Amino acid sequence: MKVRAAVLEQLNTPLGIEEVELDDPKDNEVLIKVAATGVCHSDIHCMKGDLSVPLPIVLGHEAAGIVEKVGRNATRLQPGDKVVVTVATYCGKCPACMMGVPSSCETDPQTAMLMGTMADGTKRLRRKNGDELSHFMAQSSFAEYAVVEESATVKVRDDAPLDVVCLLGCGASTGIGAVLNKARVKAGSSVAVFGCGGVGLATIMAAKLVGAHPIVAVDLLDSKLEMARELGATTLVNASQEDPVMKIAAECGGGVDYSFEAIGNTAAMTQAFHSVYPRPGGMAVVLGLAPIGATFPIEAWRFMREVVITGCTVGSIRPQLDIPRYVDLFMAGILPLDKLVSAHYRLEQINEAVKDTLEGKIMRGVITF
Ligand SMILES: [Zn+2]
Ligand SMILES: [Zn+2]
Repeated sequence: MKVRAAVLEQLNTPLGIEEVELDDPKDNEVLIKVAATGVCHSDIHCMKGDLSVPLPIVLGHEAAGIVEKVGRNATRLQPGDKVVVTVATYCGKCPACMMGVPSSCETDPQTAMLMGTMADGTKRLRRKNGDELSHFMAQSSFAEYAVVEESATVKVRDDAPLDVVCLLGCGASTGIGAVLNKARVKAGSSVAVFGCGGVGLATIMAAKLVGAHPIVAVDLLDSKLEMARELGATTLVNASQEDPVMKIAAECGGGVDYSFEAIGNTAAMTQAFHSVYPRPGGMAVVLGLAPIGATFPIEAWRFMREVVITGCTVGSIRPQLDIPRYVDLFMAGILPLDKLVSAHYRLEQINEAVKDTLEGKIMRGVITF
């Protein structure tokens, strides 16, 4: 079928809107009519070359939509179902999946994601001249329709607004899951969040949900810190003006119980670890994606106090369990995901959405169709 899509032809150039050919879903795949898709920093990392993907490519990986067609063996969904499409594609058979951490699935689906193909190693997207286009995270939702793995789809309730719950496909689930699943933050404990983009703000929202206090937000932009305050941050630190480690130590009795790095910046990872009060149970959680090969120094003596530093991929979520739960929390009015969406754009305005995101003007921009 013919669909309009935003294509990245070359690094550091705007996305171009063109009509492309999308094949039918194959085994274990479904065709989704995209209703909404968030613009995530990982898409922008690809545009800048910080994340290497084969070009030309159709980006987009934070979608929600309606199932249009199901491929052979895709038995869980029916046309008309409302779904969130998550980046946490999983096989259900590897050790990580068996351990209950499908977001860190070790097998083909996620490897293929970075190769620009679907899980079976082939592509469904072509240009008018027949040239193949790469997929991004087996989703490529900067397009009117997308073929995705059935395991990447999570059916959600019919009354869920897709232009909000689409954020649960990547950024929002990463932040919420980090608090609820990975750190298991307890009421009354203190939290610091480094980076107030979509992921960091979702982390703050979840920290508030579980009753953390104080909640410290760290960023370089005052505009983002103000957004953090709206979502529950009680202490704001502009790291371009003061040392966050010193400030957090001064404001939080020597350090916080939990810190979260939501940027992918190695200096912030060091700071996040050093902001945790050195006592057993203290934990620094790294959510951001740093360039492959990057390293960072940390003070080793802190391990004598049993402080933990850990990674957390897509919030360590179990998509089929956790995403419907987060949707329910939103619909009940206690997890205000809609506050993360500060602007809507049409597909034709996608470069504007990218620019506004980079400039820190908006929390999350959502493309709607
Ligand atoms: Zn993302
Ligand atoms: Zn697996």
